[in-house]
Amino acid sequence: MSEKKKIAILGSTGSIGTQALEVIKANPDKFVVEVLTANGNADLLIKQAIEFNPNTVVIADESKYQYVKEALQKEDIKVFAGNKAVSQVVQMESIDVVLAAIVGYAGLESTISAIKAGKQIALANKETLVVAGELVTQLAKENAVNLYPVDSEHSAIFQCLTGEWHNPIEKIYLTASGGPFRGKDKLFLQSIKKEQALKHPNWEMGAKITIDSASLMNKGLEVIEAKWLFGLKPEQIDVIVHPQSIVHSIVQFNDGSMKAQMGLPDMKLPIQYALAYPERIQSDFPRFNFFNYPQLTFEQADTKTFRNLALAYEAMNKGGNAPCVLNAANEIAVDAFLKDKIGFLQMSDVVENCLQKIDFIKKPTYDNYVDTDEKTRIIACEIIDNNNKN
Ligand code: NDP
Repeated sequence: MSEKKKIAILGSTGSIGTQALEVIKANPDKFVVEVLTANGNADLLIKQAIEFNPNTVVIADESKYQYVKEALQKEDIKVFAGNKAVSQVVQMESIDVVLAAIVGYAGLESTISAIKAGKQIALANKETLVVAGELVTQLAKENAVNLYPVDSEHSAIFQCLTGEWHNPIEKIYLTASGGPFRGKDKLFLQSIKKEQALKHPNWEMGAKITIDSASLMNKGLEVIEAKWLFGLKPEQIDVIVHPQSIVHSIVQFNDGSMKAQMGLPDMKLPIQYALAYPERIQSDFPRFNFFNYPQLTFEQADTKTFRNLALAYEAMNKGGNAPCVLNAANEIAVDAFLKDKIGFLQMSDVVENCLQKIDFIKKPTYDNYVDTDEKTRIIACEIIDNNNKN
């Protein structure tokens, strides 16, 4: 790689976005920041813009436009506002790779726009593939776009498959830490508070994915993400709980051989791998020491207590717009949990209820997904409000 890769970071103020900027800062000969986008965190966006001097920044929250514009008036940086602008800037000629690191359904439109413009995608925003996996992977194929996984489990699978693309996969095992409530029963979970759920044992992440990890919805979303990224059948994807988060995932080939990718839990590694692919870049990330981990353990996921994982498999098996319903209901449920409107276990009730109530569409179009997302959010809010009235 002789020229520096020009990177657009969508969601630069988040957990993935800020770690991506650390990777870029450590490798100034490899990467340069072309675009940064944020939702409402104008101060951090301004600070990042001054430090990395991108061509363009976008603040999705339009009410913050003047503030960002004025703060950057002395810099040679273009400033735009609004979600439409996020979807437009990703098409800039100069961009090589778009890091899709907006959280949730909000990341779908800009990722699709980048794919249509033929940009290579480093994909953190798993919800994009959960909501519209068939459409997104089809568009990627049509536009000769590679989707490089950033999620550590999918990066692990991707790394195990390097050099093996022609060999059939028998199955994959996605590892799960089990989150902060591994081994707990429903009685315990009934009374837990958001502060407990926001403490992940191994990873530091944004609030939404941290709650998803505690409820095992994150693993459910990852199962659906894996189906689309690697073209697998549902029965080829298994989840195994591995509390130490050292084995990041495993591929089993049709001769029975298994390949795993291992390392300390640090998102900078998969981010760097996705941005630099096919190169591996020297790093000073801490190295694994076997004697700090004398035992690596594996156990079955408890889908009776953590129903979200079972619900995600159900939605994946059903297909059509069911995963889109699952995702939208979950986004509303997580938000309500974070606002103390519902309890931890009720999040699954909201998702299950929505899966039953929303009309099934077998072959959804983009507009069908938008419509499904909107309707599910309304129904999910109604379920939560009614529940609080009773
Ligand atoms: P954060 O909540 O930390 O960051 C989200 C980013 O998206 C912020 O920059 C935020 O801007 C921006 N954003 C939020 N809503 C909107 C919106 N409506 N329009 C435009 N931008 C928006 O999330 P994470 O970094 O933790 O996660 C990002 C994605 O990566 C998720 O899909 C997650 O599942 C995935 N992922 C994350 C991992 C992690 O370790 N964090 C690991 C694997 C995958 P602002 O700050 O201004 O609000």
